[in-house]
Amino acid sequence: MRDFALHRPASVSAATAAFAGTDGEAAYLAGGHTLIPAMKSRLRMPDALVDLTGLGLSGISRDGDRLWIGATTRHADVATGATAIPGLACLAAGIGDAQVRNRGTLGGSLANNDPAADYPAAALALDAVIETDRGSHTADDFFQGMFTTALAESEIITRVGFAIPQQSSYAKFRHPASRYAMVGVYVARHAGGWRVAVTGAGPGVFRWTDAEAALNAGTDTAGLVLAADDLNSDIHASAEYRAHLCGVMLKQALATLA
Ligand SMILES: Cc1cc2nc3c(=O)[nH]c(=O)nc-3n(C[C@H](O)[C@H](O)[C@H](O)COP(=O)(O)OP(=O)(O)OC[C@H]3O[C@@H](n4cnc5c(N)ncnc54)[C@H](O)[C@@H]3O)c2cc1C
Repeated sequence: MRDFALHRPASVSAATAAFAGTDGEAAYLAGGHTLIPAMKSRLRMPDALVDLTGLGLSGISRDGDRLWIGATTRHADVATGATAIPGLACLAAGIGDAQVRNRGTLGGSLANNDPAADYPAAALALDAVIETDRGSHTADDFFQGMFTTALAESEIITRVGFAIPQQSSYAKFRHPASRYAMVGVYVARHAGGWRVAVTGAGPGVFRWTDAEAALNAGTDTAGLVLAADDLNSDIHASAEYRAHLCGVMLKQALATLA
């Protein structure tokens, strides 16, 4: 790691000002569980870090049919506090290990948009609204492929509003070391119909529209398998294996609907 400046602003406007005032590259720091390893391996070498954890962006509250979670809310707090959406609480409880859950944040995970991360699947299936210092994004528009989102440079996620479903559940086949999703499927039944999102299988999170159509029509999903063509193939699993896992995780998620 090389030397860098550290800013600890107390407001969102001070954070964006510190970012804009950096001579060179600035980066926001939340839980640091993606950014710091990237800096240690010199994949990222920012000149300044702007810490977001003092901005008052943590906490969970319900407002009507949405559960709002602050961007710097840690995974461990979502696991215990997102009681209005048990599927989301269970998802948070299954992220990484205790250390990761006690440092990592919802906003950091969504901003990073790792193709194997868990929260993006929940955000898509729970029709989330991602609020920032400049406005808001729907989850359908937010995720734009591997490590890419609709966030503009220096835009800060402030909070995320998840639509509270009638039922939802997440099933993941985890990588045995990191516990990232080899494949994860989040299913949610809303008054307006089902939403099904898949993470880990492809280059980015996506909605499984065939599964949504089958569930909305009340037809059997047992034979549903995704085409392997656009899925990831790497040292951990072939695209065909991931396609098979999608069907298995869909079945498991439906069997454990809360
Ligand atoms: C060993 C290990 C295991 C893990 N296992 C899992 C797992 O099973 N499932 C899973 O989903 N994840 C897993 N993770 C990732 C973990 O959840 C990270 O915490 C998360 O991806 C990033 O969140 P963070 O708060 O640490 O963000 P940081 O590392 O601080 O930041 C990540 C990126 O997001 C930006 N950023 C952060 N907050 C904001 C914001 N509010 N607005 C705009 N930009 C922002 C930063 O500038 C940076 O570019 C694992 C990580 C580790 C190290």
